[in-house]
Amino acid sequence: MNRYPKGRRFSGSFRDSCLVVAENVYGQKGVWAYESFAFINQNYFDGRLPWPQIVWALTEHGGCVAWASASHDKSKPPVITLHPSLLRGSEKKRPWGIDARWLGPSLAFDTLLHECMHAHIDYNLGGQTGRTSHDCERWTRQVNRIAKLMGFEGIHAGRTKCVRVPDRNAPRTVRGKFATTVVRKTLGNIPFRAVASFPQGLREHLGLAAAYYSMQKLPDGVPRLTDY
Ligand SMILES: [Zn+2]
Repeated sequence: MNRYPKGRRFSGSFRDSCLVVAENVYGQKGVWAYESFAFINQNYFDGRLPWPQIVWALTEHGGCVAWASASHDKSKPPVITLHPSLLRGSEKKRPWGIDARWLGPSLAFDTLLHECMHAHIDYNLGGQTGRTSHDCERWTRQVNRIAKLMGFEGIHAGRTKCVRVPDRNAPRTVRGKFATTVVRKTLGNIPFRAVASFPQGLREHLGLAAAYYSMQKLPDGVPRLTDY
């Protein structure tokens, strides 16, 4: 039975409990993650996201920086897992291929936003429709919508598509024509890597990531995280 009536799901006592646990278990970063979530929900999702449990732990998929659980029947709140190393330099020089100097609240915020986009698609839009969770019309639409809200101009994120192109290295066909080969092309005007790892990937593509992350920038209105 659904214990959370429509419109009030995962609110009230669940939210309060999350905050108490966050403060006691994770301290300032635990509360900060929820404050950041509240900012993201209000500014980028019109308050439509269900309240999640935000856990700071090694992710289920060990290599990932974060993970959002998907519960399409909406019977449980989303669980967003953030890797603690997002906030501090790890022993590896380039954890997840990311420059260690970029680690900190700024990157953690962008990662939380990315996971919130997955939660929005899973809970509010009916789940992924594409080949993968990122090569998906619903994902690219969210990237385009939120990029604009974040102040990025002229960005068009698109899915990938297989197209047949002439293969000039292959021998000519018997009729003397170029043989063709199938390649996967990105529609839109930014590389698919930037689409799949938005917003971090977009900042990288635009050459803005190093300055933004190493200076630990955050959108106006997001509280600072000092103790991590
Ligand atoms: Zn993702």
